[in-house]
Amino acid sequence: VSERNSPYFRAVLDQVPGYKPGRTAVGPDGRSFKLSSNENPYDPLPSVVSAISAAAAEANRYPDAGVTGLTEALARRFGVPADHVATGAGSVGVLQQLLQAVAEPGAEVVYAWRSFEAYPLLTALSGATAVTVPLTGEAHDLDALLAAVTDRTRMVLVCNPNNPTGTAVREEELTAFLDRVPDHVLVVLDEAYREYVRDPAVPDGLDLYRDRPNVAVLRTFSKAYGLAALRVGFLIGHPHVASAVRKTLVPFAVNHLAQAAAVASLAAEDELAERVERTVKERTRVRDALLADGWEVPPTEANFVWLRLGGDTDAFAEACAAEGLAVRPFSGEGVRISIGAPEENDALLAAAHAFPRRNT
Ligand code: PMP
Repeated sequence: VSERNSPYFRAVLDQVPGYKPGRTAVGPDGRSFKLSSNENPYDPLPSVVSAISAAAAEANRYPDAGVTGLTEALARRFGVPADHVATGAGSVGVLQQLLQAVAEPGAEVVYAWRSFEAYPLLTALSGATAVTVPLTGEAHDLDALLAAVTDRTRMVLVCNPNNPTGTAVREEELTAFLDRVPDHVLVVLDEAYREYVRDPAVPDGLDLYRDRPNVAVLRTFSKAYGLAALRVGFLIGHPHVASAVRKTLVPFAVNHLAQAAAVASLAAEDELAERVERTVKERTRVRDALLADGWEVPPTEANFVWLRLGGDTDAFAEACAAEGLAVRPFSGEGVRISIGAPEENDALLAAAHAFPRRNT
């Protein structure tokens, strides 16, 4: 693109931060463990790989543009009407579609910070203004989120559990918040990590959206379902919200392999749930070991833990990288570490144990 064309690019692009993906690292023994992107550490199930292979044989054809088979399977799985379901290329894709539908320059999008890095990116792309509200003690401050809502607010994003801190808001506070949010605001409950939640006080957004037309739930096949590479996410919400997401889908953006893999994953949920359970057990083991080692680790309902390391953040990430462990540093703030397979978690615990902490 020549410099001469640049006046024709939307001014908002100057504000767009871009997305920085999780790194990889290689240790001296060639070991490379990726604990930086909250992925599912286990290989895809054989039944899912077969479905992907079968779909690959039809790669010369366009996919089902309406994503009908997957939409119907999701509706059956979650006990909702099919017109409450919409899909996209990952839940980030769905969120971009939603923002395209509801936000424009001058509109405001409210979310807690720190939270998922795609929120500032997608908000900036839509041309809307981000209004961020600091976390309190690593968790959402719903009163402060509500206080940030104005007549210009189009969307409030609540990441539950929150990426990167792992904290989750509970039913009582969330319902009190939802009952007070004005009707003109769409509340998006981003439940990318819902399947890892074990605290019974943390509500399932699907129970909350039914009586609330301005609430929608965002879910993904990238985490518990282990299909991050294939990019499938979905929204469950009232028909006017779901239809907005369907209308804003780039034609054929949910590809044929992705649709087939997602349908096959829904059919194999018991096997996948067993893997999620393994991750939840490992999460407890990792957190307990870190606590016993003197680290402060907030309770986590997701497939990662958060260490608020402040000025030690980058040094900790470098020390992990030297051991072939990629973690996600947020410079000056802390490190997010995905829960991996047991061997990966053992390596992480050893690296954390060996890290020379400053006594600050
Ligand atoms: N929401 C949250 C809170 C996430 O952490 C992630 C993934 N890191 C996503 C959404 C995006 O997931 P997807 O792969 O479905 O786009």
